[in-house]
Amino acid sequence: MNELSKTGAGARTDTRAPNNLESFWMPYTANRSFKQAPRLYVGAKGMYYTTVDGRQVLDGTAGLWCVNAGHCNPRIVQAIQDQAAEMDYAPSFQMGHPKAFELASRVAQMLPGDLDHVFFASGGGSEAVDTALKIALAYQRQIGQGTRTRLIGRERGYHGTGFGGISVGGIVANRKAFGTLLTGVDHLRHTHDLGRNAYSRGLPQHGAELADDLERLVTLHDASTIAAVIVEPVAGSTGVLMPPQGYLQRLRQICDKHGILLIFDEVITGFGRLGTNFGADYFGVQPDMVTMAKGLTNAAVPAGAVGVRKHIYDAFMTGPEHMIELFHGYTYSAHPLAMAAGLATLDVYREEGLFQRVADLAPYWEQALHSLKGARHVIDIRNLGLIGAVELEPIAGKPTARAYDLFIKCFEKGVGIRTTGDIVALSPPFIIEKGEIDRIVETLRECLQTLD
Ligand code: PMP
Repeated sequence: MNELSKTGAGARTDTRAPNNLESFWMPYTANRSFKQAPRLYVGAKGMYYTTVDGRQVLDGTAGLWCVNAGHCNPRIVQAIQDQAAEMDYAPSFQMGHPKAFELASRVAQMLPGDLDHVFFASGGGSEAVDTALKIALAYQRQIGQGTRTRLIGRERGYHGTGFGGISVGGIVANRKAFGTLLTGVDHLRHTHDLGRNAYSRGLPQHGAELADDLERLVTLHDASTIAAVIVEPVAGSTGVLMPPQGYLQRLRQICDKHGILLIFDEVITGFGRLGTNFGADYFGVQPDMVTMAKGLTNAAVPAGAVGVRKHIYDAFMTGPEHMIELFHGYTYSAHPLAMAAGLATLDVYREEGLFQRVADLAPYWEQALHSLKGARHVIDIRNLGLIGAVELEPIAGKPTARAYDLFIKCFEKGVGIRTTGDIVALSPPFIIEKGEIDRIVETLRECLQTLD
């Protein structure tokens, strides 16, 4: 191993650079190539990261779709610091602390319809998803429908990395190394259809009928065996796939017809990404449960949560009152730092009108992104709210290589993008200015020209 790979390129320019890159086994990372040429962030403020060698990088992805209000918002920082000094930790098993109740009420008020109870996970979206799946199964037993044990996900769905999440998820690379996963899971077909919907602005026109795939699964397995369906309203991590017009509505109808719970995984679409509180509001579809994380705390402290409808919560509030109703929870469920961060985050969203800002910026964002039509290698452009994707023609026999190359080139020019497969995914913080949108798009245009 050479000295560079042990110390990182920035070691000579910043005392914060690590001495040894070896021990950290990085998640979802090509560790060996990263450690040959590491990219290290040491600071963040507003729309920008600072690299270890002192460069500013415009954050085109809000971290991992999560820093909705921009980095190191002073109110959120202060709230976390104050909470850390006042009470670092308190359990939520048979004990409580006020901020957990306060944040749950605030989130419940934001959730649509009678989604009025909130269960807090600790780490983030994966735990929120596993929590929701477990609640779905337990709920069916609770109402005397214990044969409903089957869970339905969707191809190209991403629901985090827990065993529940990868089982209902539809990404082969995330599934194939880990055995048989949960049994009794099946998948709807995905909705991505470049043949009919390429360069759609907003929601694609074609494909609502793909929701009928649920009828196929009902015919195959029988409704009496199916507990829940989980989908992302907009599939994020597999390349920003918008639901075709009418698709989610149809899915809701079929779930209702067969007594199947509908779970929206809103880890990305929750908290303003589409210009509304939740994706459910944007689409006007009422799910039975909503998973959330990321924007809940502006990512400053990890936290996940599940919102459930009243009848689901009520179904558990039976039996002797001193008995625990749901045998599930985490040491860090409703962690005080996360609750403090969450409360401050929701204040910032509201007082700065950030969700409305997304709605106001969305047409400009759409226009700017679609100006890349015709740029080299581009085969599709998609957008909704403040989320977008530019799909590239893959190099034959070398999938992902072209997009990876683009990611590196943009980073060198000071613009942070994310790529998934051969798709560029964009999701900037809501505080982005129009000039910064232009800069992202122009950097992409320039770099696309130089790609093989
Ligand atoms: N669900 C969705 C829809 C997500 O986008 C993600 C993360 N990208 C997760 C679940 C998992 O969240 P986490 O990485 O916080 O566990």
